[in-house]
Amino acid sequence: MNHMTAAASSAPLDWRLWLAQILITILFAAGFSNYYERAWHLAVHDQLRWRQYFLRALLALACCAIGIELHMIGWRVFTNATGLMFHNLGLFVLTITLVDKRNSLFEFAVKVAATLSIWWMHHEDYYSRPQFSISLLLLTVAVVALWLFRDQIRNRALRQIGMYSYIGLAFWLFLPPRSAGLIITPMIQLQGFSMYFAATLLVALVMQYDHGQLLVNEENAQAAHFDTLTNARSYTTYREDITKMFQAAETNGTPLALAVIDIDHFKQINDHYGHLVGDSLLGAVAKLMQKTVRAYPGENELYRTGGEEFVIAFPGLTALEAEPILHDCWADVRGGTFRAEGFDITVTVSIGVDQYQLGDESSDDIYTRSDASLYQSKRDGRDTITIMGQTEDVRVNQPLYATRTLFSQHLMNMQEQPPVSTHEEVQVARYEYDHDRWNFPRAFVLPVQVQLNYVHDLLQAHKTTRIMLQLTLEQFRSPDTLQALVSFKAMEPQLAVLVVELAELPSLTELADLGPRYRQFDIRIALVEIDPRRNVHELASTFPYIDALKYRIADIRHAFTDEEAQAQTAAWYTAIGDYDINLVICGVENSVDAQYAREVIKAKYQQGYYYDRPNLPRLA
Ligand code: GH3
Ligand code: MG
Ligand code: MG
Repeated sequence: MNHMTAAASSAPLDWRLWLAQILITILFAAGFSNYYERAWHLAVHDQLRWRQYFLRALLALACCAIGIELHMIGWRVFTNATGLMFHNLGLFVLTITLVDKRNSLFEFAVKVAATLSIWWMHHEDYYSRPQFSISLLLLTVAVVALWLFRDQIRNRALRQIGMYSYIGLAFWLFLPPRSAGLIITPMIQLQGFSMYFAATLLVALVMQYDHGQLLVNEENAQAAHFDTLTNARSYTTYREDITKMFQAAETNGTPLALAVIDIDHFKQINDHYGHLVGDSLLGAVAKLMQKTVRAYPGENELYRTGGEEFVIAFPGLTALEAEPILHDCWADVRGGTFRAEGFDITVTVSIGVDQYQLGDESSDDIYTRSDASLYQSKRDGRDTITIMGQTEDVRVNQPLYATRTLFSQHLMNMQEQPPVSTHEEVQVARYEYDHDRWNFPRAFVLPVQVQLNYVHDLLQAHKTTRIMLQLTLEQFRSPDTLQALVSFKAMEPQLAVLVVELAELPSLTELADLGPRYRQFDIRIALVEIDPRRNVHELASTFPYIDALKYRIADIRHAFTDEEAQAQTAAWYTAIGDYDINLVICGVENSVDAQYAREVIKAKYQQGYYYDRPNLPRLA
């Protein structure tokens, strides 16, 4: 090629033409980027793998062809500064997509080769000039940096502008006196560079803006697809996914199991600990089940479909095949302790699972059957799995009628690690269906014989050897009570320790009279429901006749600051220290209470719902 054939002029562009060319370059740049992006999407979203590669290669080659052709027009058609725009358009097309991180090494290399060819043509006849080598070196640095750091440069306007200004300067600053139809003067270099700069500036700004929009869109899509509270997939996603899974099952005849999971007594947890704790617990339970499901191969997926209700879809599995996974979820949840807002909480789940059947018209048909199975799990006492109407024998599952139950609550010695049970106290608990919670009636007369029958069962089952019974003052006064206790002790050699608890304080004379009668048969006496705000010395006269004192954690906690509680308890410990009296803190409902009792009150003995929960009695 010979640049001497055309009539070259060294005159710069008329300033109006220069401005017009800048404007056209910018508009071209905007249009090119836009169409490049569309073409890219068409290529990468093609269904066929080979056609994808083909289209991508075509796109890269098209960029090269357009770039080189524009450059040739600048050179061949204009042969003076009027062609500046075309030189820049060519350079722009070839260099601008180098920052695209989606480029394969092949695509990148093709574009670099085309860029180099332009570089080459612009320096024709001047290859021995040091400027050529410098310019080439600078370009090489830019190319390597673009390949290595495209991720960090792309979509960050300032970095991208910096990088492309550098490339523009590397090109325009070092051109030889005659270069592809141009006679290079500083003015022409300035006009040429400014055009390239304007185009790349615009693209950098637009890319940054578009990227910001993309992130917002992705965030919105994420919000629609994932439940923000638990991070499980959302109900919307469930609808989309299950429809596809159902279609696949219908078309290919592959199995599809669907499990519905509901947390048991969740309302009670909200009532007891507050909504925030409930929320946090939901997240923890979802995370655990997610982890369990993920531990198995397959496309199994967890969704949060309602408040405390989840669904797991098992494409490719029958209900029976899904059972081991569900069993793990069930076992992991009931075996775990969830830390939520400072509380340690245990929960259980009920599960119902069913599968795709011939004749099902939509996934809702499976769901309805799974939900019926879930309902059956709930009816059978919760905390269990029902597979296609068959409730698993994971625990005893008899229908329940009773709302009151006798149960024994342990008294925990906190000085052992882990704490050990020292006594068991016979208590009655009442389950309130309306409010879905337990309460422990205080003013409830439990006949002595009823308690003893229960204790007999406990002893038979080798559950315990140390028992505490609750007596009303009237029962305590009755000689029949003492008689019954003494003969029971005689008949039950396993019974090592028997303590009677008095919620009402007898008069001192009465205590001094009755206490020794009990104690002579080695029956110990405890005063319970003591008001911890009392001055301990008011009680001191009873100390010779008793073996234990007990008060509720709530009573001291609500009345005192931590320091006061500590001081008050210290006074109690000092006062009972001369006698062999144990102090028990009861009413410990949760881990926060337990910590308070341990750290503030420094209680040696704790007792409460946190350590023992009654089970609803199941009657055959
Ligand atoms: P069951 O064992 O029969 O399932 O008893 P339950 O108390 O779990 O069932 P029920 O459906 O009666 O109550 C569900 C409760 O879950 C009601 C509502 O207060 C609570 N809940 C639902 N969604 C949320 C939530 O997003 N956060 C919290 N904290 N609680 C929720
Ligand atoms: Mg529930
Ligand atoms: Mg529910």
